[in-house]
Amino acid sequence: MSCKKRDREKDILEEAQGEKSSRRTFLKGLSIGAAAASAALVTGCVPGADAAASGELKLRWQEFFKKNYRLMTQEEKEQTVARLEQLAALKSNPDLQIGTESPIPGVLYGYAFNITRCEGFMECVTACVKENNLDRKTNTQYIRIFEMEPGQLDPGSGDGQYYHEVPVDNKFYMGTQCFHCENAPCTKACPTKATWREPDGIVVVDYDWCIGCRYCQAACPYYGRRFNWGEPEIPAEEITRKQHYLGNRIRPKGKMEKCTFCIQRTRKGQLPACVEACPTGSRVFGNLLDPDSEIRYVLKHKKVFRMKEELGTEPKFWYFID
Ligand code: SF4
Ligand code: SF4
Repeated sequence: MSCKKRDREKDILEEAQGEKSSRRTFLKGLSIGAAAASAALVTGCVPGADAAASGELKLRWQEFFKKNYRLMTQEEKEQTVARLEQLAALKSNPDLQIGTESPIPGVLYGYAFNITRCEGFMECVTACVKENNLDRKTNTQYIRIFEMEPGQLDPGSGDGQYYHEVPVDNKFYMGTQCFHCENAPCTKACPTKATWREPDGIVVVDYDWCIGCRYCQAACPYYGRRFNWGEPEIPAEEITRKQHYLGNRIRPKGKMEKCTFCIQRTRKGQLPACVEACPTGSRVFGNLLDPDSEIRYVLKHKKVFRMKEELGTEPKFWYFID
């Protein structure tokens, strides 16, 4: 192989690894490097490159050409998570376990938030950040807690950035996050079908099919989505290692992300991290199809309302008062 070809191949690998990497920038390199890399894939080796780099290039190449998650067979899902685990290990992140748990039959998730109990401590926010491997540098958060005046019901008119001791007399607190709408405008806005609603009601994103156009974010009436401008920076000892492909796996740069009702936990029968962390019991989560669930009890016996009901988005997130 000529030096020129080898250099180009190195460039492609660096682009794929690098800070500026994205599906689109990687694609730019294809026309020039395709011949060399295809040969490498066919033969299973890259002449002249060291074994580790050629192995990584092969993994990245296979990852790049994988299908949308919804079109993958179970075997293909297992292959892709195995590749992602190997790539993470090459980046000094061993021991990640990326799951592909499917929706549980007969389960439709719902969430309720007690506005008379929440005292604004934000333990839920901290737990969510940790559980979902959110970027510490930009302080990205899926949950927002608003301090509200009595009589207000629109978080937009509350204080979402308070920084003082709580609770404050004569105020109440209201949390928002993705509401997992049944008729979700965000999923309709996506040009690459990278986001959709699962049968258990969880609205998910295939991070590898997201092209970062942010149409979905503009379409969400609840400020439910977050765009990552950089790969998350998380101290190694704080990384949550039990992950889900559609959930808390560490997102590549330039992707849309959001609350997934902690899919990596809830599809294993656990509560979302925010529900578990809340010290006041303000958060209720469960199966809307189970008549004996706590969420059904709340919907039947408490005064409930949903935000911007008039839009017809049918959120699976209710507010209630005792
Ligand atoms: Fe989509 Fe926003 Fe509804 Fe979440 S709250 S499902 S991001 S429209
Ligand atoms: Fe965050 Fe999980 Fe709660 Fe969603 S359900 S807000 S992802 S902790």
